[in-house]
Amino acid sequence: MRPIIGISAGRRLVKSSEGKTRATVLYTTYSEMVRATGGIPVVLPPGDPAEIPELIARLDGLILSGGGDVEPALYGGEHLDGVYAVDPVRDAFELALVRAAVAQRLPTLAICRGMQIANVALGGTLFEDIATRRPQALAHQVKGEGVREPQHAAYLDSGSSLAQAIGDEVAKVNSIHHQALDDVAAVFRVVGTAPDGIVEAVEPTNDDWPMWGVQWHPEYLGAGDPASRRLFAAFVDRAAG
Ligand code: MN
Repeated sequence: MRPIIGISAGRRLVKSSEGKTRATVLYTTYSEMVRATGGIPVVLPPGDPAEIPELIARLDGLILSGGGDVEPALYGGEHLDGVYAVDPVRDAFELALVRAAVAQRLPTLAICRGMQIANVALGGTLFEDIATRRPQALAHQVKGEGVREPQHAAYLDSGSSLAQAIGDEVAKVNSIHHQALDDVAAVFRVVGTAPDGIVEAVEPTNDDWPMWGVQWHPEYLGAGDPASRRLFAAFVDRAAG
């Protein structure tokens, strides 16, 4: 049996026959990577957190996907000018997803916003806007064709399971984020950093919860990128148990 991988999603107003309608949105790159590495993807529309324990029990793995910003009030942050696309319904749903995933030890891959919401859910904080909080940092918010190309290095902890999964101690990663982890939740340790010190990857400090968080977008680099394929394949293997 191929593992069923739930993927969290966003909401956005899209053009429709009635003018504009709110839609569940998830770029196809996520489902393509899950399928390419042996999983079956299912999209999880933001909604009622009360259904999450039952939902999680039916999944073999969870991807927390990228998207807009986490509400700064959730971690004592400020609504700086750069903060955009906050969705309280999505935030509430994903906070509950993270906590249920921890409780049920569900294999989890948290990507970009996904790593940020996991950090907030478990007691950490974020830089609301890197350019404001860390003006000396590299340009981490790349647009256009650059999203599919490596932008900077992520130096991985050689003893981490993430480095083992990727098969290297230096990952060349894309970078499509203007927020980053500030205080790292106590359950995590940093296992990847950019040359400017921005946190690029975390994993739990103990083995109970098989989870990786990455600030970059392996699904955008795609199955043709060997390191991204290895990461997804290792995650799907974990989900397959
Ligand atoms: Mn980056």
